Amino acid sequence: MALLRRIFSRRTLAYATGGTALFVGGGYWYLNSGPAYPVPTVSTRRPPPPWTPPTRAEMLKQLKASGSVTEGAQPAEGEEYDLLIVGGGATGAGCAVDAASRGLKVALVERDDFSSGTSSKSTKLVHGGVRYLQKAVFELDYDQYKLVREALHERRTFLHIAPYLSEMLPIMLPIYKYWQVPYYYAGCKLYDILAGKENMETSYLMSKGKALETFPMLKSDGLVGAVVYYDGQHNDSRMNMALIMTAVKLGATVLNYCEVTELHKGPNGKLNGVKVKDNLTGEQFNVRAKVGIINATGPFTDALLQLDNPNHEPIVQPSSGVHITLPNYYSPRKMGLLDPATSDGRVIFFLPWQGNTIAGTTDTPAKVTKDPEASEEDIRWLLEEVRRYLSPDIKVRRGDVLSAWSGLRPLVRDPSAEKTEGLVRNHMINVSPSGLVTIAGGKWTTYRAMAEETIDEAVKTFGLKPKNGCVTQTIRLIGSEGWSRNMFINLIQTYGLETHVAKHLSETYGDRAWTVCSLAEPTGLSWPLYGKRLVSQYPVIDAEVRYAVRHEYALTAIDVLARRTRLSFLNARMALDALPQVVDIMAEELGWSLAERQRQINKALDFFGSMGLSPAYVASHKPRPIPRGTWEKVQTGLWDACVTLVHIVRPSKAAEVTPAEGFAPGRSKFEPGEISTLRHAYVSHKKATDEKVHLDEVLDILREVPGYSEVSDKELDYVLNEAGLTGQLEFNFDEFIEVRISFVPDGFISGNLKEIMFAPSPPKTSRKRTIIPVEKSGGGV
Ligand SMILES: Cc1cc2nc3c(=O)[nH]c(=O)nc-3n(C[C@H](O)[C@H](O)[C@H](O)COP(=O)(O)OP(=O)(O)OC[C@H]3O[C@@H](n4cnc5c(N)ncnc54)[C@H](O)[C@@H]3O)c2cc1C
Repeated sequence: MALLRRIFSRRTLAYATGGTALFVGGGYWYLNSGPAYPVPTVSTRRPPPPWTPPTRAEMLKQLKASGSVTEGAQPAEGEEYDLLIVGGGATGAGCAVDAASRGLKVALVERDDFSSGTSSKSTKLVHGGVRYLQKAVFELDYDQYKLVREALHERRTFLHIAPYLSEMLPIMLPIYKYWQVPYYYAGCKLYDILAGKENMETSYLMSKGKALETFPMLKSDGLVGAVVYYDGQHNDSRMNMALIMTAVKLGATVLNYCEVTELHKGPNGKLNGVKVKDNLTGEQFNVRAKVGIINATGPFTDALLQLDNPNHEPIVQPSSGVHITLPNYYSPRKMGLLDPATSDGRVIFFLPWQGNTIAGTTDTPAKVTKDPEASEEDIRWLLEEVRRYLSPDIKVRRGDVLSAWSGLRPLVRDPSAEKTEGLVRNHMINVSPSGLVTIAGGKWTTYRAMAEETIDEAVKTFGLKPKNGCVTQTIRLIGSEGWSRNMFINLIQTYGLETHVAKHLSETYGDRAWTVCSLAEPTGLSWPLYGKRLVSQYPVIDAEVRYAVRHEYALTAIDVLARRTRLSFLNARMALDALPQVVDIMAEELGWSLAERQRQINKALDFFGSMGLSPAYVASHKPRPIPRGTWEKVQTGLWDACVTLVHIVRPSKAAEVTPAEGFAPGRSKFEPGEISTLRHAYVSHKKATDEKVHLDEVLDILREVPGYSEVSDKELDYVLNEAGLTGQLEFNFDEFIEVRISFVPDGFISGNLKEIMFAPSPPKTSRKRTIIPVEKSGGGV
């Protein structure tokens, strides 16, 4: 009886009810956590209503109309802009969407292409930043904590407003010391808790075996387990494009290749317009803004501030970050990796992206330059780090670097703060006495919140009368409305596309993929019916080029290859291969002459040179424009005939020997006939290919072979190290040219040397790295 009374006592019942409520509530919360993907409906089975944006010429006309008012006269109602945004990266584009969606009359000008600055060169993470959280906890830093919290909130918004461009990605933290297990696990759990109901998926611990099963490329030596947490990943330049096109749909005037060269002030010293130069034609004209000009020029913030006030003291301290793209076999398809403690203390990310793997790091102080390049030293440092945590049976080769790029993060000092004040933690909004609103810093993930604050500030400062408040948390970006995760199936069923191509189109353009498909040419095959790939390895199709020109203001071949499609970021060599075709389609769309096509090719070659392709490679693979029309075809035919004639009269050394001579498993690395030429040179030294040559002779032999004359001792050392042949003094022909699979897997000397030679050389003196502390890095990794 006493027992029953105790069981049914009020206290026990209260505990039981509380426990049940907690269990049910917790269960409900857990089951409903994770990203809410858009619910597929019947409407997502059909193409959305068609929409064609205004042309660039129409935009230009609108922009010029605002400035054509004669001095002193009152401009016509509606011609002046409420706000003029300078800079078409994430920040500027975000501001344009925000302002236009509040009903303000807004214009945006970008001097190059949209997202050609930092915004296409990020790590592509949509994240709160686990490293910042670590700082917040260890240093009990409340501001840092707030930043992580805000970014985690924005991460969720990102996935809601552009679901086709962003997705969640599990990221593994490999653990090599037992004491780190509770440390990393607790850290990741805290990250989940901070995200609260906006969390994507909860983090979890993995045994060593499970970690290796999921990430077989990982070094198993000393591994004790791993913690996996979730963050978001997106396609940065496509996201930028979606923002720009959403702003256009909301009524904004946007123009790429239009640079602000002067700021105009009225008699009261307040800004009222700018001079813009059309960088395509060189034409200059004025644009009037009723009240506000927004400086969203990222690393170039100081240049615009100097136009406003020639005595302006620079506030930007740029920090650069380098990334390389590696083939997809370097990482699992759906698992990233974070190394929080590299050899020099920087963080390195290693992430699957668009079917390949990207590895990158940030936070090296740099100078502001328009086109920062990844240095060979940085590329090799990244490879060295990658080597450290990958299994020793994976040979990390320089030749596997498919693309490389560098981006500049604009870290800023608040100009209104005391001189001694350091860099601001995240972003900064400053209004100068003339009314220039500067927004700088921050990160991609928080672009929306930054834009909201900036436009709030502009509305307050300039007394603007928007129709409504900020609505960007709910406005879904272009391509999102009619998109569902199964939309690609409808594309296949309607257009007869390859699955890979359909998925790529759906995840790149959202519901606009229907429009892209409508521009596709039939393949003439029984399958796929539509969707001619530009290069066989990537699912990018011809119709995307037309779409980019007609619907996304692509004006150069680089716009298409780097930012509308991501080919040059994924594989610079493939981008080079696709170049003539892209130029040809664009020529049809834009009416380019032969000279213009050649100019586009030359400009693109320079650009690819900045993406890890050496000038030597570019020079030896220089494409020519595809001839158009009879006259051009005749000209090209005549030229080719002359070249053939010259070759017949003066055959080259490589052509003297038959390409088929001798089987070589690694022959893909060589041009036809090249192995025979190498054999020739080898035999001329030793007479028989089974005789060994000494290390000292290797270079002498190689230097006799066309294309290898510039090879240096250092390059040979690097290659021997990559091939695992360091310390070996003698080599037979197989080792010289390629080492049989059974001996050292894939250990080429000359093939690898060629790749190294095709890469730009690292600087002679290696510079000492300075690292910007993570809490000052204002975003990124
Ligand atoms: C290496 C690296 C990795 C990063 N990774 C991440 C990440 O994973 N996640 C994340 O959230 N953030 C990341 N970031 C941060 C993020 O990329 C940047 O915060 C963001 O892209 C900055 O955008 P922005 O618009 O301010 O600058 P930008 O993209 O540089 O845009 C500024 C634009 O202004 C234009 N401009 C300049 N002067 C003029 C003029 N006079 N007239 C007209 N136009 C002009 C420029 O051409 C440029 O396009 C990373 C940053 C770096 C450097």
